[in-house]
Amino acid sequence: MPTTADAVIIGGGVMGCSILYNLAARGLKNTLLLERDLLGSGSTGRSSGAVRMHYSNEVHARMAWQSLEIFRNFGQTVGGDCSFVETGYLIFTGDTDLDVFRTNVAMQQSVGIETSIVSREDVNEIAPAFYVDDCAAIAYEPRSGHADPSGTALAYAARARELGAQIQLQSPATGIEISPSGKVVAVSTADGRIETPLAVVATGPWSRRFLLQHGIDLPLEATRHEVIHLKRPLDKLPYHPGGGDITNLIYFRPEGADLTLVGNGNIEEVVEDPEIYASRPSQSFIQEVWTRLVRRIPVMAEAEYSTGYAGLYTSTPDSHPVIDRVEEIDGLYVCTGFSGHGFKLSPMVGVLMAELVLDGRATTIDISPLRMSRFREGKLNMPSYGFKVLV
Ligand SMILES: Cc1cc2nc3c(=O)[nH]c(=O)nc-3n(C[C@H](O)[C@H](O)[C@H](O)COP(=O)(O)OP(=O)(O)OC[C@H]3O[C@@H](n4cnc5c(N)ncnc54)[C@H](O)[C@@H]3O)c2cc1C
Repeated sequence: MPTTADAVIIGGGVMGCSILYNLAARGLKNTLLLERDLLGSGSTGRSSGAVRMHYSNEVHARMAWQSLEIFRNFGQTVGGDCSFVETGYLIFTGDTDLDVFRTNVAMQQSVGIETSIVSREDVNEIAPAFYVDDCAAIAYEPRSGHADPSGTALAYAARARELGAQIQLQSPATGIEISPSGKVVAVSTADGRIETPLAVVATGPWSRRFLLQHGIDLPLEATRHEVIHLKRPLDKLPYHPGGGDITNLIYFRPEGADLTLVGNGNIEEVVEDPEIYASRPSQSFIQEVWTRLVRRIPVMAEAEYSTGYAGLYTSTPDSHPVIDRVEEIDGLYVCTGFSGHGFKLSPMVGVLMAELVLDGRATTIDISPLRMSRFREGKLNMPSYGFKVLV
């Protein structure tokens, strides 16, 4: 392990890897990423990988849209493969959220996103097996889809290494040394310290505990969320687009040749220790989300259960992440709290973090709504829906 580095990135999820790569691509190559276990072993490895654009605020909509271009051209832009699959994406709403839904789609269009409100007849063509008579409005994003979160993290890591960055696996950072004048001087591990003027904390569900050690008290919670895969009746439903259903509080997408992945986002459980949680789905969750899915896609009543698992979100009170520098500690940056929707933003998170670190501020997109001080200022970015994954 090196004893000095120009920057140390703590955490090898998709965010840490994207940041490492983007710093290297901008010329900061004498860097080290520390990962406590394996790359993608946290939230990233459990992520559903949905890449859709429907958000209720500009900062996320812009990040998702600009990230989509990177996902779609990953081989040329970054190098390697993120396994992006264009499926198209439908968002369904009932009467309750109709006005805000229309406002959100208009905002998304104003930032350039290819999305529109489509008729039920249009949906019958795009997804003939779907029941839509209960919908007040449906939006369609033809260019959205999904990608492979672990594969994306690994691709960023591989490219960063090619550019000169180093990665140390199974090496948890135990702390950050801060000088009496309030500057980052080193990151410590069980195997020694790495002198550095710059540390980025991208530790996902471990962030609250890690940051508290340094007196940084952010309202972050690790929350457990389940996902299941169902084997489709292929004769009746060979394929379908991805979807986010505000009425039934489910999201879904095709997985491989014959599976449908289904998650919920709202059924959650706070986890005290991110290393100890039940990784299998509960019977009640399977029944609940399957029933909800059948309301939208009735032929899924004939599906077979295939598998399921649980993973952790890093939740904040407004379901928005924190991407910021720590004002009181020179050289310390925080990038965490992505709740259930961070993967789709990860390409731009790396770009913006590199701007913040190297240029002093993010210029491509205004990320001030994601500043850490918003919690004490009481200026939260409250999501417009009750559906937690569509903030
Ligand atoms: C079930 C589920 C479904 C999801 N579905 C979607 C989706 O469809 N679309 C979407 O956009 N997003 C989705 N997300 C959210 C997305 O996966 C996350 O926002 C994203 O993966 C967060 O990445 P991260 O790098 O911040 O965190 P993580 O992937 O958790 O990475 C943090 C890393 O830090 C390491 N670490 C922790 N402490 C230390 C330490 N002290 N030293 C060194 N390393 C440390 C951990 O081992 C871990 O590898 C989903 C998440 C889950 C759990």
